[in-house]
Amino acid sequence: MPIFDAGHCHYCNRELFGGRSDKRFCSDICRNAFNRERRKDEARLFGEDVREQILKTIKKNYALLLKFNPMGESFRIVDRQAIYLKGFNFRYFTSCKKVDNDLIYFCFDYGWRDLEYGLIELFVDEDQLMK
Ligand SMILES: [Zn+2]
Repeated sequence: MPIFDAGHCHYCNRELFGGRSDKRFCSDICRNAFNRERRKDEARLFGEDVREQILKTIKKNYALLLKFNPMGESFRIVDRQAIYLKGFNFRYFTSCKKVDNDLIYFCFDYGWRDLEYGLIELFVDEDQLMK
């Protein structure tokens, strides 16, 4: 968006004549078009924030899965509450698959599934990266 000096329409840059000194647009058409584009820009920026936040959450989840499973074992059992308290968000993952009757959730190649008694089982599935 170019910078507009006073005395020119903020949308089409046409010179403004007469009217109030704080007049910003040459017509209602330009004012409406300007406002419509501004709202669109704002909506897009807001969407970017949300996507940024989701990526951050998934990266954090991944870092925690690595931390709780440093040797990259499959079938490693950890306390659900312990990883949750470190900031793990169980609602964010990159894929999930059904094995037997369980859902295994993945952040990239590191995954987990819920067990009974407040435990989760961690997995590593190299194939996940290729799917
Ligand atoms: Zn105009």
